[in-house]
Amino acid sequence: MKRFIVLVAMAAALLTACKDPLNTDTLPSYASGEKQGHISYQLLIYSFADSDGDGIGDFNGIRSKLDYLDALGVSAIWLSPAHPADSYHGYDVTDYSALNPKYGTEADFKALLDAAHAKGIKIYMDYVLNHTGKGHPWFAAAKKSESSSYFNWYNISANPAADYAAGKFPTLNGYYPNEWHDITVGDVGYKGRLHFKVDFSGSTKTLTVTESSAPAQSSNTDSSVQMFVWQGYSGKAERMYRSAGEVYEITLDVDSDWGVLIRTSDSTWDNGTKWGAPAGKNVLSFGTPLALSNTDAQDILFGQATRMKYQGAFGSWMPDLNYGSVATAEQSGPFVALAETVDKWIGMGVDGLRLDAVKHIYSNETGTQNPSFLGKWYDRCNASYRKTHSEDFYMVAEVWMGAGQVAPYYKGLPACFEFDFWERLKWVLNQRTGCYFAKDLMGYRRLYAAQRSNAIAATKLTNHDETRAATVLGRDLAKLKQAAAFLMTAEGEPYIYQGEELGYWGKDSDDGGRDELVRTPIVWDRAATSAQKDLGGHIDLTLLTDEISVENQKKDANSLLNTYFHWTQARNRSKALSSGKMSAHAIYNDSNTGLKSIAAWYMTATDGDRALVLHNVGSSAVTLELGGDKLSKQLASLGEVSVSGSTVTLGASSSVVFQQ
Ligand code: MG
Repeated sequence: MKRFIVLVAMAAALLTACKDPLNTDTLPSYASGEKQGHISYQLLIYSFADSDGDGIGDFNGIRSKLDYLDALGVSAIWLSPAHPADSYHGYDVTDYSALNPKYGTEADFKALLDAAHAKGIKIYMDYVLNHTGKGHPWFAAAKKSESSSYFNWYNISANPAADYAAGKFPTLNGYYPNEWHDITVGDVGYKGRLHFKVDFSGSTKTLTVTESSAPAQSSNTDSSVQMFVWQGYSGKAERMYRSAGEVYEITLDVDSDWGVLIRTSDSTWDNGTKWGAPAGKNVLSFGTPLALSNTDAQDILFGQATRMKYQGAFGSWMPDLNYGSVATAEQSGPFVALAETVDKWIGMGVDGLRLDAVKHIYSNETGTQNPSFLGKWYDRCNASYRKTHSEDFYMVAEVWMGAGQVAPYYKGLPACFEFDFWERLKWVLNQRTGCYFAKDLMGYRRLYAAQRSNAIAATKLTNHDETRAATVLGRDLAKLKQAAAFLMTAEGEPYIYQGEELGYWGKDSDDGGRDELVRTPIVWDRAATSAQKDLGGHIDLTLLTDEISVENQKKDANSLLNTYFHWTQARNRSKALSSGKMSAHAIYNDSNTGLKSIAAWYMTATDGDRALVLHNVGSSAVTLELGGDKLSKQLASLGEVSVSGSTVTLGASSSVVFQQ
């Protein structure tokens, strides 16, 4: 704001004068309605803040840190999936209508919503529409039987290639064998009518099982026959009928979670009376005799189970949902059921959704199906929301592609993440070439606007699936600070990812690291308490230090956190920065490659409020002649900025915003 207004004693200034005006332990605060910057915070429930000391973040923990998020200028929080799930990260949901008990109760969640709303902070839930967890009861029912009403909620087939070719899977565009996973015996057991034939006449005893349409028989009442089919947990041991000599047969309706055994006694297991499959050969093929063993009697499992496969683009633990043809998707079982769960959360006070992996719902990423489907989904949710609200529901989608491929998704949705923002910005900062940035960004926005006039570009640096910004920028604090300044001065609605404001580093699994390493818990204080239990020990301990803690960075005027406080305040308090459209500077633009380190643009709000944004991403100072601009009022600055008459000198990695 006021640093280095007069360029004097620069050498001394370099050593001593980099004090931030926010050198205070008191958090910034906002008056009611003052936060207009549309700044959101992406938060991982499990590793953000733990209120009860069990090492797992929770709703009450988030509620206890709302002052911090408020100070960051945040007006919305995107929560990682809050539903019950089998994994720590929660993207394999097992019940969309409930909350993960690890995170707290519905009352805790409601208390978080109410407390956040009292601070003008909205809450967005993460919704996974592409797939459920393998443990979801819908999938448990679907995989058990083709007659289940849930069977068609997923893509399940005994012959995926042929069924795909026959058009049975409308959400799939391409048959990819590696996306199809076996339904294992343990998954389904068997339900149906089977004929059993036991042959004890030879030295090798055999069991032959065939699928049957003959009438089922009741258990033989002739107690002289000691040969039984045992389905296990139900306790039923059905006595077979002697058909010839030592050959026994029976036709039964089988309903077993695991398979069968053959017994030569219905009262004892002893003396080798239990006959099963030899180890390693326990999956029986219908029609093929299975050699029985009474010394290593493994459960006899039915080949039927392994004939069936299901499709899951993200692996076997996440079966994809099948919404049918997009023309009728809104009538499909999973669409209707999922929408009803959203109604519940809207009723509780949830303000919006972040949609996961939407380009995979219909697996032609660049076709028209996903935008069409998402439009129906948005309209359904918005209609629910509008029953009790006068504004539209918020929804932002993860469409992980370039801007040109993201743009069509705005046909269906108000907001999409802009992955190209970070792709360009990291290049700008690492190549120290800023002159093309504004032109590139404006180009992306024209693509979106062609699809939706009020398209929201959700800008960001990195998320929970990407190598951390700090690692990409070589843990160069000056670059990290400038990344924050770019994010808060560009057109769009920015997201800050948990820990980014603290300079957290780490490589994700795509870069030879681990996903947990980019999901590190927040270290709140010098005692280094943090919610790390769910990360299974996969934590870079060098991150969990006093030095990087919130407590320490609040006190350090030169910390990255204080830089974030500074720039988020500037954005929130400037209409031009918060809601303005970008336009090129007349001199310092993509044509001025002689000063390629300069990124410059105007931000202009609809009411005419206007700001000039200047960034020097170079490693040396640059002096700019700005005779056509007003230089009297700085809204924000970073690094060494000096004004003299109509010139501005920007030191290395320096930024400034002037009110126009
Ligand atoms: Mg906890």
